[in-house]
Amino acid sequence: MDECIFCKIASHSIPAYVVSENDEVMAFADINPATKGHILVIPKSHATNLFDIEEASFIKVLSLAKRIARVMPEVLGCSGINLFHSAGKIAWQEVMHFHLHIVPRYRREELQRPFVSTPANKTELKEIALRLSRKLSNK
Ligand code: AMP
Ligand code: ZN
Repeated sequence: MDECIFCKIASHSIPAYVVSENDEVMAFADINPATKGHILVIPKSHATNLFDIEEASFIKVLSLAKRIARVMPEVLGCSGINLFHSAGKIAWQEVMHFHLHIVPRYRREELQRPFVSTPANKTELKEIALRLSRKLSNK
């Protein structure tokens, strides 16, 4: 993908603050960090988001994210992390190359929760669970 900024980072055509990389995945610092130490993990091969990423590639991204998250408390002094992914413009995705955000957390108040939870309509929950479950059994 010629115009994709994360493809360019993956191929070292443009610079990034790289934390870790191999032939398939790369982790680098987010240029506009939500908190100190905010890291992005990407597959080197272009995929748009969770809808189209190959399962094997997704597992490699997750695996690197886990390795990075595990050392963050010791290296950065954070007490937790949020793992975040946006799939689709409607879900706030801005860069259309798959990425996981690893956001180290230091204080509860430093970020806002991105959603407000409300008590469920049980009939709707049952219907949604059934529809998804049926679709999965057909695949
Ligand atoms: P999203 O809104 O989930 O698509 O997140 C895209 C993220 O990519 C944002 O947090 C940006 O700050 C980050 N970003 C965009 N360009 C770069 C870049 N050249 N290097 C590092 N991070 C970037
Ligand atoms: Zn790309």
